[in-house]
Amino acid sequence: MDIQFELNGEIVEIAELAVRLNNPSVAQAVLNVAEQIVGEIHLECETHHEHPAITLVISETHGFGVRVSACCQRFVEQVQERVRAVYTRSLQLSTGVTAGLNLVIRVAGTSKSFVFDVTRIDVLVIGRIDPDTGLRPDIDLSTFGAYENGVSRRHASIVLMNRGLYLLDEGTPNGTFLNERRLKPREPDALKYGDRVRLGRLVLEITLDYPASTS
Ligand SMILES: [Zn+2]
Repeated sequence: MDIQFELNGEIVEIAELAVRLNNPSVAQAVLNVAEQIVGEIHLECETHHEHPAITLVISETHGFGVRVSACCQRFVEQVQERVRAVYTRSLQLSTGVTAGLNLVIRVAGTSKSFVFDVTRIDVLVIGRIDPDTGLRPDIDLSTFGAYENGVSRRHASIVLMNRGLYLLDEGTPNGTFLNERRLKPREPDALKYGDRVRLGRLVLEITLDYPASTS
């Protein structure tokens, strides 16, 4: 399936998008969305057995949108609904944070989640309780085998910058891994929906709870 990119009213190539946008994190977010659409939407019209054409529309004054054309109205609506679901959840994290959106950090293999209102996040420290001072990080993994799994007292942080969420390693011996790629100490990296964060050997799953998904 083909995806086209339209920037400020003009169709552009993928390679051009990053250059023309002047904003690497937005360009990356758009590419992530395109990748997810290609990966998740394998739709064929039930009546005409045709595939849709999808254009991701980016306007520096009006934000993001999507244009779908297909063989019939019913199929257009089906595709629009699926595309909208993909891009609402992945664009929100990297490009613009909306009120009512919760960041949900789940400890893998458990039913425990830490939930934060995204708009109220400044810095969230992830680690374990400090036995010397009694200081407790915002996301305290002490009861999830943090010590045994190589999690430092102050291991990583999630920060809100440029209206997006970023993860950074606090300079730990066992490292912070974003989707199995080790982060350089204190260099923030953009977080997005579905990311897997590993601190030492302990894994966290990052998602968003987007209660008003139709807004
Ligand atoms: Zn059709």
